[in-house]
Amino acid sequence: MLEEKAGGAPDVLTQYNRLSQLGAIENLEALRLENRELDRLVTDAAALVALPSVPMMLDFVIDKVLERFVPTFLAFVIEPPRGNRLSQFCYRNLKPSDEEIPIDCYRRIKSRFLSKPFTERFDTILAETGEYPELEPFSPELVFPMRGIDGLYGIVVLGSKVVGDEYSEVETMYLDRLTRFLAVGIQNGLHHQSSITDAKTGLYNHEFFMRRLAEEQSRSSRNGAQACILMLDVDRFKRFNDSHGHLAGDAALEALASTLKAVMRTGDAVGRFGGEEFCVLALDCDPRGAMDAAERVRRAVESMRFPHDGKDLSITVSVGVRMLDPLIDPKDLLDDADKALYASKSGGRNRCTLFRPGLLGRAALLRAADPKLGRR
Ligand code: GH3
Ligand code: MG
Ligand code: MG
Repeated sequence: MLEEKAGGAPDVLTQYNRLSQLGAIENLEALRLENRELDRLVTDAAALVALPSVPMMLDFVIDKVLERFVPTFLAFVIEPPRGNRLSQFCYRNLKPSDEEIPIDCYRRIKSRFLSKPFTERFDTILAETGEYPELEPFSPELVFPMRGIDGLYGIVVLGSKVVGDEYSEVETMYLDRLTRFLAVGIQNGLHHQSSITDAKTGLYNHEFFMRRLAEEQSRSSRNGAQACILMLDVDRFKRFNDSHGHLAGDAALEALASTLKAVMRTGDAVGRFGGEEFCVLALDCDPRGAMDAAERVRRAVESMRFPHDGKDLSITVSVGVRMLDPLIDPKDLLDDADKALYASKSGGRNRCTLFRPGLLGRAALLRAADPKLGRR
């Protein structure tokens, strides 16, 4: 302790000592620390909600957890907006693991959170809702609800630490707050994903594909890169449905979507335009590369087999190819791709046709079209 001056106004050190005796300095330090923690949380939260995909958000949270401790087990259980299968991301010692929280455990915990949507110690949940022997291997210590706009849509289960005591109040509070932001971020991400994709195939929907096309047009007008549109339509699909049933038709469309994704390069955009019509935006290719890509797709679809009702079924597609041209309206480009597709249909189906602008190009398309074969 510092000496106080005798008589007169107390100097700075005297005042400091008095404040220290009252505990004010200690309080100030605690407030500073809390402020720093909040500042860190706000910075982390802003970075988290700006991430473009759910796996990236989860990786971010895992990094943040790792800065503080290693839990034996961590699970994110999420109800996607579409379909009824839960998405689970589980980690053992923060390494991805195939383990899963059983669905009925999730449902029981969820119903508890519906009435009390707050982070809770697992012991308390046990006391309120009964035993969960299936969860014992996960040594759960804390459970966080994931709340979104429409209510609860998932939970985070945190196992005890690999080394160290129970989670402290400060640690629990940080994780609780970070999980709240994660919940909002994930829900945004999932809704964004479902707003740009087609529910049946998971491919981009028409609207988003058009956006990507417009972006690519302006990119190619800036840097002169060449790209193309492949417009595809399943051949004689009505007959396929009539022979094998609508469910087989749906299975064919799903298989086609997977093949398209597998055959195209990362960065290319694959969309479903509706019905049995699909569109691909293939980047960085000249007309020869575009036709190679179209042929690759056509052959991959032709050799695709998918089992249905004990039979191995197959389909074929006709393809129309149009090079991108920044001076032409995207709708007109699609119209041209459709003309080329028409030529493939009329020429006998299961083939690819490149649209060539100009009179000669149009004449070539007309020649390719066999007037005896109507389209679709
Ligand atoms: P073309 O070779 O000339 O394209 O003949 P097509 O029979 O494929 O053409 P058409 O336009 O006459 O028929 C398209 C069929 O695609 C009819 C429709 O029932 C089917 N279809 C469209 N969307 C779906 C779908 O989501 N699932 C199933 N199973 N069938 C679909
Ligand atoms: Mg068709
Ligand atoms: Mg069609």
